[in-house]
Amino acid sequence: RRSRLQTYVSRASETADGKHVELAANIGGPQDAQAARTGGAEGIGLYRTEFLYMGRDTMPTEEEQFLAYKIVAEMFPSQPVVIRTLDIGGDKELPYLSLPKEANPFLGYRAIRLCLDRKDLFLTQLRAILRASAFGNVKIMYPMISNIEELRQANAVLAEAKAELDAEGIAYGPDVEVGIMIEVPAAGMAADQLASEADFFSIGTNDLVQYMMAADRMNETIAHLSEPFNPGVLRLIRHVIQSAHAKGRWVGMCGEMAGNVTAIPLLLGMGLDEFSMGAGSIAAARGLLHKLDSEEMKQLASEALELYTAEEIKQYVISRVPAVS
Ligand code: PEP
Ligand code: MG
Repeated sequence: RRSRLQTYVSRASETADGKHVELAANIGGPQDAQAARTGGAEGIGLYRTEFLYMGRDTMPTEEEQFLAYKIVAEMFPSQPVVIRTLDIGGDKELPYLSLPKEANPFLGYRAIRLCLDRKDLFLTQLRAILRASAFGNVKIMYPMISNIEELRQANAVLAEAKAELDAEGIAYGPDVEVGIMIEVPAAGMAADQLASEADFFSIGTNDLVQYMMAADRMNETIAHLSEPFNPGVLRLIRHVIQSAHAKGRWVGMCGEMAGNVTAIPLLLGMGLDEFSMGAGSIAAARGLLHKLDSEEMKQLASEALELYTAEEIKQYVISRVPAVS
């Protein structure tokens, strides 16, 4: 089985009818980039930068961050590397930030909320990412965007970072795309509006499902509610993809769902452009994609989204797509 999967590591990600989608990897730092390459990633769909900030007593400097981003950009010279700005808070703490104790950390001071409040920290990171963008195809992604004001405020800090680099004569990529994660339900519902001002979306199903289902993703007792195949969740995902495409934007997914073989036929059918997952899942995803007809999956998705339960939806996919089971 392993050797058959191995043959899919290096082949382009195409469906049986020749539609190209991008299979990218999620990484937590430069240490994961080699595995992403050997696993067959066509780029990095999610570079989680918080690990650079964790397990230490001081903030990483601009120079440290720049080097960590540049290494990865250079390893994927012509392929996209989506660097997500700091997503700290929630369950992830930093000793040197002395974050407030909160009753509901996942509904609290985290990610872009913290970055817009701690502009010093955000500006440093954006400068580091911009500098790395001179060495590859780097894209910037903001996590946990809830409304368009946050996107605008973040872009204002980004413009400041660019102005500083310009004044200092420091190079950065000329057309760095700036996208947002869709993981807050209200952002998903307003995807058509956000698509007017974001270059791309990446759907973060780990958080999106948690917030849509009102079910803590860490709470074992209610784990059965963490269900990406819930028809409400799937319909929002479809809405996000359609809204983005209507504005000419591409849509990826970097939550766990993107590497789920039962989900892939549905996501392909809904028109998802990029699937980002752990490097170990890429070969199997590519092997599956080769067997799927994109037009057939469109039909499958529209039928599946009329079903009433997650279980029925999964069983429907399995019955229609033998390669999944
Ligand atoms: C997500 O929420 O789906 C996601 C990819 O982000 P994280 O798991 O880092 O919160
Ligand atoms: Mg998330």
